[in-house]
Amino acid sequence: MGVIVRAKCNHCSYISDSFLFGGGFKGFNSDCGFPALDKNNNRVTIENIIDREKVMKERPGLLFYDDDSLCQSDLQHEEASIEWGSYRLFNDGYFCPNCHNFSVGFIAEGLFD
Ligand SMILES: [Zn+2]
Repeated sequence: MGVIVRAKCNHCSYISDSFLFGGGFKGFNSDCGFPALDKNNNRVTIENIIDREKVMKERPGLLFYDDDSLCQSDLQHEEASIEWGSYRLFNDGYFCPNCHNFSVGFIAEGLFD
């Protein structure tokens, strides 16, 4: 089971396409979709964080949203709005590719199998 998630900025009007956070039934241990910033295209995308090294090697302009430079450091003390195993997302404090404030949050829209 995973979660259908959207990135939404609390400061400007930026909102991403919805994406699947976590693993679906088939790829339980090998697949975990996690949001990443695509710096080349200035948008939030989704990549498999379990293959982090491979993904970052193939896509040099990409940075996962758990990177310190993309989220406010005090976030880790907050209660996560969405959790998948040890991966957590919060509803505020992430870098916005549109207005460049730390005001993006991830919100759950539903569940998937
Ligand atoms: Zn924004």
